[in-house]
Amino acid sequence: MKNILKSSLSNILNLFYPHLCLHCSSKLEKNYFYFCKICLFDFSYLECKHNISTFAVFENIGAIKTLLKELKTQKILSITKIAAAFIVIQYFRLKWPMPDVIYLMNNPLIKNHQYYLSKEVSLFLKKPLKKRQNLSEVALIVFDVLETQKFNQIKETLLFKKVYAIGLCFDVFFDDLDLFL
Ligand SMILES: [Zn+2]
Repeated sequence: MKNILKSSLSNILNLFYPHLCLHCSSKLEKNYFYFCKICLFDFSYLECKHNISTFAVFENIGAIKTLLKELKTQKILSITKIAAAFIVIQYFRLKWPMPDVIYLMNNPLIKNHQYYLSKEVSLFLKKPLKKRQNLSEVALIVFDVLETQKFNQIKETLLFKKVYAIGLCFDVFFDDLDLFL
């Protein structure tokens, strides 16, 4: 009985702090959470460009792909918040103006990982999460993977004063990006 209790407790703890690296499954050293020291090298912020309104946080590689996968499955409770924190940090690094709203591209009734990610960013920035458009407002749209070509087409049809879009990564490798920037 004691063992069952112990194993269920460790299962619960694993939801918050898994003891193996999510990407390479090596044992995590003390004070490391989710990813090991080596995999954390993949978490390098993309160098910010100026005068752009569409950007990403990380390169679409290794451990970042695992982070995306975990974000989609929503099995680890705090992953969405961590991903949102990375997005908010990159947002400030980009020195974009504070948005009036966080705009939801999808139907807000569909509570998928994209919804929760947008919601966490809206909580961090203390800006409302909305589906309604307003010509006088500046909007920020949050993506897990930013499909730049597709988004640039959609952007033309949006009715905000200005639209900024940020993704945890781009759909292509950063070096392959056409200079739409
Ligand atoms: Zn690792």
